[in-house]
Order: sequence, then C-alpha cells, then structure tokens
Amino acid sequence: MQFQSTRGSAPASLDQALANGLAADGGLYVPVELPQFDDDDFAAADSVFDVAAVLLTPFFQGSTLRAELPDILAETFSFPVPLTPLPGSRGNAEILELYHGPTAAFKDVGARFLAACLSRLEGDAAAPLTILVATSGDTGGAVAAAFDQRVGMRVVVLFPDGRVSERQAQQLTCWSDNVLSVAVKGSFDDCQKLVKATMANASLAAKFRFSSANSINIGRLLPQATYYAYASLQHFRKSGKKPGFIIPTGNLGNAHACVMARAMGLPIGAIVLATNANRTIADYLASLKWQPRASVQTLATAMDVGDPSNMERLRGLLGDAEKLRQQIEVFVVDDAEIRAAIRDDFTEFGFPTCPHTATATHVWRHMSSAARSATDWIIVATAHPAKFETVVEPLIGTSIGLPAELAAILSKPSRSVMIELSLDALTEAMRDRFFPS
Ligand SMILES: *Cc1c(COP(=O)(O)O)cnc(C)c1O
Repeated sequence: MQFQSTRGSAPASLDQALANGLAADGGLYVPVELPQFDDDDFAAADSVFDVAAVLLTPFFQGSTLRAELPDILAETFSFPVPLTPLPGSRGNAEILELYHGPTAAFKDVGARFLAACLSRLEGDAAAPLTILVATSGDTGGAVAAAFDQRVGMRVVVLFPDGRVSERQAQQLTCWSDNVLSVAVKGSFDDCQKLVKATMANASLAAKFRFSSANSINIGRLLPQATYYAYASLQHFRKSGKKPGFIIPTGNLGNAHACVMARAMGLPIGAIVLATNANRTIADYLASLKWQPRASVQTLATAMDVGDPSNMERLRGLLGDAEKLRQQIEVFVVDDAEIRAAIRDDFTEFGFPTCPHTATATHVWRHMSSAARSATDWIIVATAHPAKFETVVEPLIGTSIGLPAELAAILSKPSRSVMIELSLDALTEAMRDRFFPS
C-alpha cells in the first residue's frame, strides 16, 4: 500500500514512511485508502496476534517486510491484552488492559512494532541506525525497551534531569550498551530542541545515521488499531453489540487508531475521548476554531499535550470540527476529578487505575444513565497504576503490588550520563559510548 502526507505531497511506500517518520512537507503519513473488512474476514482470528495479521496485511502489500509480518507481530505482542469485565452494578462495561508490556503502558505496542520493522529495514551492524528520542517520561522507556539489544540499532534517550519520577528514571536508564541514557540539565522542551539540533547537524548525521521513533510515526499507529479490532470483535461475538470505547487522550495517537479501526469496518460504536485539563480538542469541537496552546501540567502527565499533532490525521479522515463532533465526543477531566476517580475505582472495582485511565473511568461514571445503558462500553486502560504510585497510593491509602514487568525493570542496574544543555556535551557522550578510543 502507498502512504501520503496529510499535507498532500508525493506518495511513499510503507518502508519509506516508517523510515522517514515525518513526511518531507512536514505532514504526517496516512494510508492512501483504508482497507474494508467485515466480520467474516476475522472468522478464523481469535487472538490479538491473528486479528492483527488480518488487519495489517493490506498495509504491507508491496513492502519488503511483507513476509516478515508474522515475526514482527510475534515480537510486538509478546504480552497479553486482556479484556476484563468491570465489577460493579453500573451496567455493561469492560476494561481493555493495555499495560502488560515491558514498561507497563500501551506505548510498548507501538514502540515494539516500530522497533521490529525498523531493525529489519535499517539495522546494519557495520553502520547502526541511531534513534534519538526526547522524553518527559513514558515514551523514552518504551522506545529504549523496544530497541534494547537489537543488532544494528542504537538509542539515545534524553530526559530532563530531576524532572521524571524515580520509577520513570529507572525505565530510562536500565538498558544495554546500545541504549545511551542522558540526563540533561534543562526542561523537556530543551531536550526536544537539542534532539532537533543534533539531527540537523550534517557531520553528526553522517556518522550516526539518525532516525526518530516519536509518536507521529505511522509504525506506532498501525499496531494500535489492532487491539481495538481485537477487543471490538471479542465483544461483538459474545453480545452481538458494537461496543463504545472511552479513550484517555493526549496527542490523539491512541484515539486515532480506534477511529481508523471503525473506519475499516470493525464493530465499534461510539468513540469518546477523555482528556485532562489540556482542553484544546474539546474547545475545538465546541468553538469550531483550532487553537493549539502551551500544555498545562496535570496528574495525567503523559497526556499533557496542548497541540495534539495527530489532529491533522483525524481531520483528514473524519473532516473538520463540525463533522468531527458528529463522530466523536470529548470530555475534559481536571485533576480533582482524576483524584476522585482513582478513589472511586478502587472502592468500586477493587483495584486502582492510573491517573490517565482515571480520566476515562470518570467519563464513564458521570455519563447520563441513558448514555451508559445505550451501549456496552470498553474503557481503555493505558498504564499500570504502579507506574504512578506517588499519585495513586496516597489516594487509596495502601500500596500497589508491582507487576512482574516493572519489578524486573526496578531490579536492574541503572546508568546514565548527566550533561549540560549543549550539542558539544551530547556529542561527547555519544562518542564516549559508541566510538570509544
Ligand atoms: C501517551 C499516553 C497517553 C496518551 O496517548 P495519546 O496517543 O498521546 O493520545 C495516555 N496514557 C498513557 C499512560 C500514555 O503513556
């Protein structure tokens, strides 16, 4: 299949779209058309792996990776994606647990798929590809874990020194020799600027072969559509009803993947987005004016996005605000409501949710009873609460057991280098690690 930029420029193959990340005109890659499916196409597909193979095969037509799709999917879904009924009496709801991967958040799915693709396309032991990633916490850990020990691939993770939680820092710094973790004396924005300056430096680019793995890469979206396909089919088969999804949303990647799955014919009803106090999307649907702004800090830090880049893809697929608001709904959930939802979830379900997932449980709990019973709902759980124990534990008054994945990460040795905010300092750190004399 061919891909084109949301801004209309020349088509690219899947291989090119994966390797480039961003299109040359600054737009985001989208498939030129979406394949259409009906339930029969998935008749023999029971696992998330089987569903993914059916759903993604059309996108891999003509790609050099076509024959390797099964291996790529096996590497991606090395962990389960359970759909669990929610205890409680408020009606038919399930929770889609996307947090059983190595770093206990849904970003593992996209990062692992992209790593499996890129290492096959570009991995070269003699001239490794270097993935540069700036992170405010979650993304960098998923990317580092996904590329850890891959031959022909290196990762340089930049994070703001002292501004990530202890557990986040450990997830950024516990990997093998091919992952360089750099604590930068500066903010997340400084880290992002330093990444851009580094990639723009021609002599460094020639030496290191830079690439990026950020969330606008189409290689992170495609695999995310598969768990919506899988969950909706599971639900539809047992109940005959198309479930609605409530999705914690920041940069709109995860939500856009759900919209794609519905547009491909999967049995998905309503799509409801839950954001934190960053209200750019909600204001757009209400005012019809797109007004991106600086992000505000909330308890759901991985959703602190004031200018969601995947809006460009969403508008391309569904249309501008007036059309959008007929096809999706958005609710803003502030920090006080997040706290209340975490407490209520613990009381009602018997387990706590993370601050991101809590935006979605809040929306579900505060729907009108008519809306709640109009359809069956699947609440998307994006991270394990133990990743955010400093927020969650005081609210529920007890400690959260560590899942095995996180326990494994926390027991590893950690190492990072600390640098001043400068290209020279970063260059030296990269040389020391990758070209020691
Ligand atoms: C990244 C992230 C989100 C937001 O997902 P988007 O695709 O950016 O909308 C929600 N929850 C968690 C835990 C995340 O890490």
